[in-house]
Amino acid sequence: MNSIRGILIDISGTLLIGNSQACEGAIGGLKKLREAGIPFRFCTNTTKESRSAILKKLIDSGFDTNKNEIITTLSACRDLIISRKLRPLLLLEEDALEDFKGVPTEEPKDAVVIGLSPSNMRYDMLNKAFRILINNQDAPLIALHKSKYFAESDGLSLGPGPFVSALEYACEGVKAIVIGKPEKSFFESALKDMDLLEKANHVVMIGDDIEQDLGGGAKELGLIRYLVKTGKYRSGDELRDPTIDGVFDNFGKFVDFILNNIKK
Ligand SMILES: [Mg+2]
Repeated sequence: MNSIRGILIDISGTLLIGNSQACEGAIGGLKKLREAGIPFRFCTNTTKESRSAILKKLIDSGFDTNKNEIITTLSACRDLIISRKLRPLLLLEEDALEDFKGVPTEEPKDAVVIGLSPSNMRYDMLNKAFRILINNQDAPLIALHKSKYFAESDGLSLGPGPFVSALEYACEGVKAIVIGKPEKSFFESALKDMDLLEKANHVVMIGDDIEQDLGGGAKELGLIRYLVKTGKYRSGDELRDPTIDGVFDNFGKFVDFILNNIKK
């Protein structure tokens, strides 16, 4: 195994199920990583909440962390909106809007942003999005990510992916710009944040979604890719990509493996 310089960690399904249930071994595992001095970042596509809300959720669930260790798709999206001077319809939960302060959203006209937003996934809101896209050929459809589904404490739930596809289907020629995992640019910004962009093959990505966490850019950049059997994992998921580097029962087991095999 290559020496490990850093670890990128998915949150939902890897550390936490739902809002407050820590995955087995996750709290202790993270503590051990920190004690071992291995740098890490949480890489989340969670778009229901702002970075400070995610931080609060992690701390309330027993994880020791700080805001600088959390990388989300919301800030990357805001940068894009501002650089293109757009007036977007934001299909996001109230908690996530905090990260969009300063973005003009009255009478949205030239962009649609869609994240995981159960309260907005209704006919009237989706139709509003449809009308912006169909009436303005240049209006981008920006998807924070295209996850098909995710794990909640009472079962699997629809992610934003199916709703993004519905809008693409309705508006011929519209193809969403995707911001989050598994986009290469997302992983690159996480690596840059740790100053490890040139050492991607010494960085681990661990998550419960073989496509969103371990596919796309994670694979292309040569990250060491591990799957956990918690969260949305379903039996046989690992067979969908035989090139991943390993599978663990839970995050705690993964950390034990890393600490036992690490070459300094
Ligand atoms: Mg996950």
